Amino acid sequence: MCIPLSRNVRSDRITWKLERKGFYSVKSAYWVARDIVLDNLRVSTSVGDPFDLLWKALWHARVPGKVHICLWQACNNLLPTRDRLTTKGYTGELGCLLCSHPYEDSRHVFCACPVAKEILGAALFNLPLSMSHSFSFKEWMLEQATTMSSDIFAKLLMTVWALWKNRNEKLWSEKSQSAVAISLGTMTWYESFLLNRYPNGRKQKGRAHQFWKAPQAVGYGTVGGVIRNDQGGFVAAIAHQVSHVTAALHIELVAIRAGMDLCQAMMVDKVIIESDCLVAIQAITSEVPDMSVYSPLIEDIKVGARVFQDISFVHAPRSANCVAHRLASHAFENEGSFEWFAQAPELILDAIMYDCNHRN
Ligand SMILES: [Zn+2]
Repeated sequence: MCIPLSRNVRSDRITWKLERKGFYSVKSAYWVARDIVLDNLRVSTSVGDPFDLLWKALWHARVPGKVHICLWQACNNLLPTRDRLTTKGYTGELGCLLCSHPYEDSRHVFCACPVAKEILGAALFNLPLSMSHSFSFKEWMLEQATTMSSDIFAKLLMTVWALWKNRNEKLWSEKSQSAVAISLGTMTWYESFLLNRYPNGRKQKGRAHQFWKAPQAVGYGTVGGVIRNDQGGFVAAIAHQVSHVTAALHIELVAIRAGMDLCQAMMVDKVIIESDCLVAIQAITSEVPDMSVYSPLIEDIKVGARVFQDISFVHAPRSANCVAHRLASHAFENEGSFEWFAQAPELILDAIMYDCNHRN
């Protein structure tokens, strides 16, 4: 009876009630489909706790105990977000610490805050960037627990934990990290956790994510380097595959460190290290202490440099680094790590010749 009637006689027509203007949209249909999926889940688990599936996935996930507990608290709205604190008499600021959103609750911190959306929307999770307002964080987690493989779900738990840690660092020490730094730092740490905790079988049963190969999130990269004498002649070369890298700066620092290791192994103690990554060279040669996620690598390089009698780090244009790039491509195409001594591999012979002739 709430539908206003027209005074004119009009033929009946079908409209879509979920959009204000009555036209069908895929977006609104998507939310209906999600509601149906969740309702079915609730019905199928209507005996006992409807969130049983979530709790099972959560407590069985291969993550550290502190992550289990943090997520259990987040799902039960027990984390001290500003929204939650108001129920305990808190009367201070209510806004998000990391963006201009006026209200900080679990749902915002973990699903809607720009830093969270950037991580969740990236290739690893590839989740839609908008979320129905009718969903609580717990319901959203239930949906992920039922649709993700156990490996990816564990990574989601790690990410939520890292987002909460990042939020707390902002609160207590006014420091926060970018989405890339959070993702990279967390996944790198998580991979070593898995290696240490489950050395004989890192993969859990479940839909494995072998289809996922996305270098822009967390993947592997390759580095190439060549040692040449002062005449440009070949001394040694490396082409290594490196796991868990996302950023160009990260892989470049790994390459420089590998190059220094090689020089040291070859007892070469007067070295000029060239890299086409200016940011890496600046980071290594800067006097200012580095606080970024790459600081352990930079520190390694600075400490490692002390054993050389004479070492300098120089930026070279990409065009002058053709040999190193060929070597890196070789490691990528052949999915492995290679080293050559004394005799240059065929794949770089012409590039070395060209460089030398070009120079003279
Ligand atoms: Zn926010």
